[in-house]
Amino acid sequence: MLIVKKFGGSSVANKERIFNVANRCIEDYKAGHDVVVVLSAMGDTTDDLIALAHTIDSNPKKRELDMLLTTGEQVSVALMAMAMQSLDVPAVSLNAFQVQMHSTARYGAARFKRIDTDRIRHELDSRKIVIVTGFQGINKYDDITTLGRGGSDTTAVALAAVLHADRCEIFTDVDGVYTADPRVVKNAMKLDEVTYDEMLELASLGAKVLHNRSVEMAKKYGVELVVRSSLNRSEGTVIKEKAKMEKMLITGVAADTNTARISVIGVEDKPGTAFRIFHTLAKNSINVDIILQSVGRDGTKDISFTVSEDDLQNALDILEEHKETLTIQQITCNPHVAKISVIGAGMMSNPGVAARMFESLYNSRININMISTSEIRITVLVDEKDVDKAMNAVHDGFIMTE
Ligand code: ADP
Ligand code: ASP
Ligand code: MG
Repeated sequence: MLIVKKFGGSSVANKERIFNVANRCIEDYKAGHDVVVVLSAMGDTTDDLIALAHTIDSNPKKRELDMLLTTGEQVSVALMAMAMQSLDVPAVSLNAFQVQMHSTARYGAARFKRIDTDRIRHELDSRKIVIVTGFQGINKYDDITTLGRGGSDTTAVALAAVLHADRCEIFTDVDGVYTADPRVVKNAMKLDEVTYDEMLELASLGAKVLHNRSVEMAKKYGVELVVRSSLNRSEGTVIKEKAKMEKMLITGVAADTNTARISVIGVEDKPGTAFRIFHTLAKNSINVDIILQSVGRDGTKDISFTVSEDDLQNALDILEEHKETLTIQQITCNPHVAKISVIGAGMMSNPGVAARMFESLYNSRININMISTSEIRITVLVDEKDVDKAMNAVHDGFIMTE
């Protein structure tokens, strides 16, 4: 059997944890399996490196930032190989260059295009445990790229796909995927199974337990994932195409504080206005999320929308630059907002989910700024200061009353 095992930063945060991971991998190796290990940077290394970069330049070039951040994963894999070798198990560490993990050119948000398997196969054939750096790729300029925060999950799934792995396990610091972040919602419950579609919504809407691209890729290539703890032996959560029928109406609640609201005020109320505004933003690679348009009055209207907080300044600069052609009278923004979403395939066939969500928020006296829905989710925008309270209120409104 070929097994891909990915361990996040907290799972390799210190010497004891590194040996704990080494031993768990060696167990599978000694059972006769081929083992590929994907690692994140130790503990808070990535955050620390970002802070270090900012002591030099408040807006460092993304190319150099990627060059810096990828050193974190390189430390982990080298130490892991040393740990295994010290236990007399043959192991080899490899980075994205050595494996040849080709990505798109975009620094900080690269996507895998093609991954060679020759080197990994060769090392596995000589009965080594292969330890690969998560989070990184190489682009057409032979530069090193990163896949975005949390991207090591995607490295693991991509390797599982190209190697046709029999198992792909994502080890982290919680026991699996919960109905909400167990660190914020004390009544959160562990889920045994989640479908790709539900997990994709959860991950995209803020549940950082899995990188959303990793779920997208798992669905595309049919890689079944298990999310479980590196610190105990509990079963974890399986992510796959079809989960067994759950009685629950919703699968989970997610929060995303990396959100900002922008309002463009007094734009012309005639055909083409919204098109021009959002086309201008899209041309500049700015993703717009929830959109709300006011009813027109005196020939003008207001449009509010959300963007990720990372894109806020860029979006404001672009709108300011095109203020006249876009007929904008005034631009306002609020970075202190958060999205709260409920996700669940069950809501397709059950009316009243939105009402129940709004009731829970009302009972906790939390104001809703914007609303957006899809077939299997409802998202509301609330003030960032209310986010934990809102998560708990919405979660308990659904899960506890089931
Ligand atoms: P790793 O370093 O292992 O990749 P992350 O910090 O990226 O770990 O992801 C694990 C964290 O995700 C947990 O500690 C938990 O606080 C958070 N989390 C958010 N939403 C959920 C959820 N629905 N289920 C489980 N964990 C969640
Ligand atoms: N070390 C990277 C990060 O902190 C990648 C990862 O952990 O998945 O974002
Ligand atoms: Mg992670």
